[in-house]
Formats: sequence, structure tokens, C-alpha cells
Amino acid sequence: MAEAGSFAERVKQQADIVRVIGEYVRLKKSGQNFTGLCPFHAEKSPSFAVHPVKQIYHCFGCGVGGDVFKFVMEMDKVAFPEAIRVVAEKCGITIPRPKSSSPEERKENQQRTLLVEMHREAQTFFVQQVGGTPEGKAARAYLEDRGLDKDAIARFGIGYAPSGGDALLRFLKSKYKEPLLIESGLVSRDQSGGARMYDRFRRRITFPIASESGKIVAFGCRALGDDQPKYLNSPETPIYSKSNVLYHLDRAKEALRRADFAVLVEGYMDAIAVARAGISNVVASCGTSLAEPQIKLLSRFTKRVIVNYDPDTAGQLATERSISLLLENDFEVRVLALPAMNLTAGDGTKYSKNADPDLYIREMGVEAYTKLLKDAPPYVDYLIGRARHMDLSTGEGKLRAVNFLLPYVQKIPNRLLRSEWATRIAQQLRLEEPVLRAALSKAAAERRSGLKVAPELVGRAAKPAERRLIRMLAEADGFRRELAQRLSDAGLCAGLETEKVFAALIAANLAGGTIEATEIAAGLEERDRRMLFEILFEESSELTWEEAESCLESLQNRQTERALMEVQRGIEANPAPAEMRTLLAKKQELMRRLAAGR
Ligand SMILES: [Zn+2]
Repeated sequence: MAEAGSFAERVKQQADIVRVIGEYVRLKKSGQNFTGLCPFHAEKSPSFAVHPVKQIYHCFGCGVGGDVFKFVMEMDKVAFPEAIRVVAEKCGITIPRPKSSSPEERKENQQRTLLVEMHREAQTFFVQQVGGTPEGKAARAYLEDRGLDKDAIARFGIGYAPSGGDALLRFLKSKYKEPLLIESGLVSRDQSGGARMYDRFRRRITFPIASESGKIVAFGCRALGDDQPKYLNSPETPIYSKSNVLYHLDRAKEALRRADFAVLVEGYMDAIAVARAGISNVVASCGTSLAEPQIKLLSRFTKRVIVNYDPDTAGQLATERSISLLLENDFEVRVLALPAMNLTAGDGTKYSKNADPDLYIREMGVEAYTKLLKDAPPYVDYLIGRARHMDLSTGEGKLRAVNFLLPYVQKIPNRLLRSEWATRIAQQLRLEEPVLRAALSKAAAERRSGLKVAPELVGRAAKPAERRLIRMLAEADGFRRELAQRLSDAGLCAGLETEKVFAALIAANLAGGTIEATEIAAGLEERDRRMLFEILFEESSELTWEEAESCLESLQNRQTERALMEVQRGIEANPAPAEMRTLLAKKQELMRRLAAGR
């Protein structure tokens, strides 16, 4: 909630959460934390804890938790802006007067106009580079290799930011003052605090990001080589806020109205691939999750969406979050989860690969993609498919699958339809229908307050190896990024109880920067937020890479076990001889792997 550089963030940095909460609750130091009697539920022994370093609180009894503002909001029953004021006052921080005098507004408008103009000039510069210099020629070769010919490069305004470090700066310097150059996000200042300025984008393919009206307000850039990060976009500026812009919307408007549905993809390469395939009604969220303002923007053109995100863990998580948000905004949602493709490498070996829309269209062709799009199932079918991949062999596992599905099912407005879905879920997950229906009507009754998960399910859901890895991803500054990469590459967190917590932490680590517990928590559902906080509050021994390795191994083994169970189920279904042979071979291989891993 506290945006970077905002007054709220400054207050949060300066406020001491122990002191603020200490005015409401008698706190006692206990290990690294402070504990006391929870002010939100009646209790005799303290289960309410405050973490002075992470600046968060959490109750192990009733599950409440958050940062200092959340505490004041809940305690004093006030809204966010009021909570900021209360905390600021308690900590003796001066509150700035609201500024909205008209000369200032005029100045800001003028500044925005200049920034848009500067982006237009930068676009001209980037476009000239492609094919215009030896470096630009290499960039064009790279694009051609990705299937983007001259026409496509021109159509989407794809450009190139050279490696020199100040090429764009030299181009712009004579026309714009230094503060404005920095404000644009196109130019950065030396991090050591010096006066030297340099281009933000170097040795990168540039994609212009336009506002709804077609004005270029930012750039999304992909590294040409193996430079990190792979994708680097413009920062938030006076003319660009990433949650307010949908990539390609400016060109998709007509097609959206005509087709009355949108294809929603993750990145600009995907949007370009889909648009080139003749499906112009495509937009990209440019980031893994869709934000509310983006949905509001889209809803002006259509209320029907086919979500086609990457099939990796982060993409699945983003898909689920987007479904929720879209449903809340009365969208009709379908989901296209592209199947893994079987490819042949240069040396003849066969392998299978997850496909994003760009890769899929390149490998399988426009027709295959269009057919999948046409047949994309309603979101409930997609979610049932996801639930079927959970471990359904135990009662607890089934309960988890139901709990995963219910919040979505209860958003189906039509009662008959809801009942139909209940039957299908019961059949597909082999649940007893009356049990499911009881859970459903209970959920419907709680519709307003949201679905509550029994508290005792939360704590023991995460196994020790998961808890330690989560802790490491949050705190082990020496190796947390490397760990995130390993977990992400190996896809070890799929299907885990803690999958969403992992996905959020992995994404934050791979994006770089510090890990803020409350920021991670803001993207999680209540139940996952509780799990994360409980883990962060545990007393911890030193976090080492050796321990990380052994935790990774344990996850690896569990993944193999799950695969084995799946194969076993296949064998028990008594398939045709050829498939049976394949399954038996697979079983042998998995058992070998399991034996080697122990
Ligand atoms: Zn409590």
C-alpha cells in the first residue's frame, strides 16, 4: 500500500512498530520478537507477536497480521489515509499540506507534455539504430531469428538501444534539461551518487509502450545477449504507471469491440506474436499480474477475456489471480493453457518444453493456435484441471482441492450453473456430491466475508523443508537469488501446499532488490499470508547453502513420489498394452531416481 517515495512509505520507514503497537498492547520481549495478548481476540496466554526488524505483527491464535498501518486501521477502525496520519502523529513526523495550487498544476502539465515529446524522440532514435549501425545490424539479425521480419519491426516500432552507455543521452541532452532527463526514466544517474548520467537501456531491443490514445509513454526492453535482467522496463514516471497501461491496447481497440473478447497475454513478444497471427484483439499486462485499473480500462472495450499466460508456476499463479480479479469485475473468463510441446534439438534429441504464445505460434503455426483459442475452456474447467493435479489420495488432500476451487465457484452468479459445476467437480475429483454441496452452500452463505479456511489447516500445511526454504528466500541475502533461480528452473514448487508463497518469493527475488514481507504478503491470499508470517516468526538457526541443498533434495524426492503416484494410478486403470509398457518403464525410471535420491 505504501508506494515507493510516497509520504506513506516515509512514515513506515520512520515509525517504530513496537512503539506504536505498544500504545495499545502490553508487549514483552521474547527472543527476537515482542509478544503480548492479542487485542483482536480474547485469550489468556499471549499468541500475538511483533517483529521489530521486519516491522510486522502476527497473531498465531486468530491469524491477523500486517504492517503498522494495517494494525492502526483494524484497531481504530479507520481508512488507510487516516492510519498514516495517526502513525505519523504518534511518531512525531510532520504531515505535508496538500498541494494543488493551479500554477503548480500547470507546471506539471507542461512537464508531462515535454516527457511525451522526449519519448517520441527516443523512439525515433531507437528505430534508426536497427540496421543502421553494426550493432543495430546484429539486433536485426536477432529479431529475424525470432521470426520478426522487416515489416513486423516497422509495424510494432521495435528499436534498439545501443551499448555505448550515453548514445541516447547525447541525442537528447541539447534539447532537455537534466532534471527532466532523469524524470523521464530514459536516463539514470550514477548510482554512487555522482553527477554522471547514462542511458537506462543499453544493448537492448526496445518495444514502445503506448497509452490508450497511442502516445508512447514508456519502453519495455529485452536484453540482446544474456545480460540480466532479461527484461527491463521504464520506471514509474509522471506519464507512466504500469498498472494503468495495457500493452497494444491502442492498436487493439477496434478489434476488441468487433470481436467482443480480448486475448490477454503476459509480455510484449507474446502480444506481437498473437497480433501478427491475425488476432488483433490481444493485449498484454506487461508483468505477471493484472492490476485492477488495467481491468477497468479493458472493460470499456469488452467484458470477455481469454487468459493465455505462460504455463510456468508464476504464470499459473498470475492466471489464478487474474481470474479472481476479472470475475470480481463481472468478466466472462476463459483460459488457454498451452500444452507442452515436443521439440527436437539441433543434435536430434527430443525434449518437451512449456510454451508461451510466442514460441507456440512459431513452432506450431497460426492455425493450431487459433484452434486452441477457439476451444479455450471456461475458467472453471481450467481450475478443475489444476485441482486434479493436487494430491487427491487423502481426505485432507481432497479438502485442499475443494478449498482451492470454492472461492471461484461461489463467484458464479447463476445458481443453476453453480449447481451444474458442483456436479462436475464432484465427478472429476471423485468427491461425494452431498459433502461438496454442503461446503458450497456454506461458502455461498459466507460469500460476502470470503471463504474462511479452518485455522488448524494453515500451520501444519507446510513441511519443514518448505518452511526452511521460504525462510531462506526471504532472508538469506547471501544466496536467496541463486536459490530462487534453482527452484524456478527445476519447477520444484508445483503442487505444493506452499506453492503460492514460493511463487511470490521467487518472483520477488528474480526481480531483484530487497524482500519486504508486507509487500510479498500484499499479493497473497489471507491463508497464504498467514503461512508466510508464521514461518517468518519462527525462531531460526543460521541459514546455510548446505541446508538449502538438502531441502531442495527433499522437494525433488517428493516431486518424484508424486509423479510415481500418478503413474501408478495410470497403471491401475489398466490401459492398452502399448501405454502400459510406457507407464511401467516410467515407473521403473522414477523408482530408480527415488532410490538414487535417498
Ligand atoms: Zn489474535
